[in-house]
Amino acid sequence: MYSQVVDFIHQLFGKDDFVPLHAPVFIGNEKKYLNECIDTTYVSSVGKFVDRFEDEMAAYTGAKRAVVCVNGTNALHMAMLLVGVERDDEVLTQALTFIATCNAISYIGAHPVFIDVDKETLGLSPQAVENWLLKNAEVREGACYNKRTGRRVKACVPMHTFGHPVKIDKLVELCSEWHIELVEDAAESIGSFYKGKHTGTFGKVGAISFNGNKTITTGGGGMLLFQDEDLAKWAKHLTTQAKLPHRWAFVHDHIGYNYRMPNINAALGCAQLENVEQFIRNKRETAQIYAEFFQNVPDVAFFTEPVDCRSNYWLNVVILKDRAAQQEFLEYTNDHGIMTRPVWELMNHLEMFKYCETDGLKNTEWLADRIVNIPSSVRL
Ligand SMILES: *Cc1c(COP(=O)(O)O)cnc(C)c1O
Repeated sequence: MYSQVVDFIHQLFGKDDFVPLHAPVFIGNEKKYLNECIDTTYVSSVGKFVDRFEDEMAAYTGAKRAVVCVNGTNALHMAMLLVGVERDDEVLTQALTFIATCNAISYIGAHPVFIDVDKETLGLSPQAVENWLLKNAEVREGACYNKRTGRRVKACVPMHTFGHPVKIDKLVELCSEWHIELVEDAAESIGSFYKGKHTGTFGKVGAISFNGNKTITTGGGGMLLFQDEDLAKWAKHLTTQAKLPHRWAFVHDHIGYNYRMPNINAALGCAQLENVEQFIRNKRETAQIYAEFFQNVPDVAFFTEPVDCRSNYWLNVVILKDRAAQQEFLEYTNDHGIMTRPVWELMNHLEMFKYCETDGLKNTEWLADRIVNIPSSVRL
């Protein structure tokens, strides 16, 4: 039944064997910069590519400053620490996300609260957040509390799902009104803009990932984006073991973290960043081609970017008509050399998070029964 889809995707990616979901592409200065690291011996925690990657990412995203991390997960962990999330706080987020969002919250000993997503963005719904707050929360002495649990609601972490921006300006307003810190999980959304502004630069902190399956990669890596210079400086200090600068003495003034990206990974990042706009143009073209194709496939809807956005179309999404159709589509495509995937098992279904508070998650559950990711690599 889905044979025309399988043929089309094989053709689109010019491969008659296996088509992966998202493969990295190295067509620029990657080898040159990596060789430079090896030739100079600067492969590890110091070197010019670290500073350069931070500066160029700040310039590209419009952030005041960017700070590298070893991966996106510890960038998120650091973001939680930086905005002051503490043990037993609650953090509002979406159940439709990759596990890293919730792990970062859990590392602190804080509790995720799962709020519904919007069908038109696949990300955290400002309306659902507002409804939850009006029903469950109150502001006392400049902090927000959950009236039922008595816990402080310290932060809100929307995730720009598959690169599609959430309605972030509404969340900015709500968080400010309710005294909640806004952290953006922009792990998937490098190169995605909401009303012309890069995702990850609306909240107090934004976290990006450069894992091997993301739009650009450093092997493993992450980046924190800041508007606040002092907070960025503090992040740099904490991610480098909180060591005081000195030519030979090792003195530390805080519990620190070894979260800094090595120079060799930053070198890869600098080379990849030089091509990011080319990659995104290519990915957006693929999305356009998919959109046209799926118009003529019954009961399969291609998901297109929300209004006022430029999405990087990290992973393309089709929406099937129900769970049975989703399973059938997954089975047929994977049987025929096309890698496809359902959305991550919802966080509220996992053993560790099944006791967490939710708001019902109507759209979340609806989408989880229907979403399938289809191949999305840059086409050469
Ligand atoms: C990729 C990703 C991360 C970070 O993952 P790392 O592999 O640690 O870089 C965080 N959140 C989401 C939603 C992601 O997709």
